[in-house]
Amino acid sequence: MQYGFYFNGRRCTGCKTCVLACKDLHDLPSSIAFRQVYEYGGGSWWRQPDGTVTQDTFCYYVSVACNHCGNPACVRVCPTGAMHKDERGLVSVDAARCIG
Ligand code: SF4
Ligand code: SF4
Repeated sequence: MQYGFYFNGRRCTGCKTCVLACKDLHDLPSSIAFRQVYEYGGGSWWRQPDGTVTQDTFCYYVSVACNHCGNPACVRVCPTGAMHKDERGLVSVDAARCIG
């Protein structure tokens, strides 16, 4: 089995409520966020001879956390086996085996 995580970038407004919900669930301190939301923007605008303005600006958001990859690089390189993938396809770390 392989659960997946679906993020619909067309609907994300960058409100970061998902970041706060994750912090609340895991009772994280203010300095740590397992999920992060990034904003990407660019483009420019220019005035036409007739006085109107043309632009090609854009802005979108991406909500990022672990993707629980099918063939996770983190599991392959972990020297202690702390990073592992379970029968549901979820990737997690065994804190007792992690050497930092
Ligand atoms: S994915 Fe996160 S940042 Fe985007 S709209 Fe939903 S809660 Fe807000
Ligand atoms: S931490 Fe591992 S499973 Fe998660 S996105 Fe990175 S490589 Fe994939």
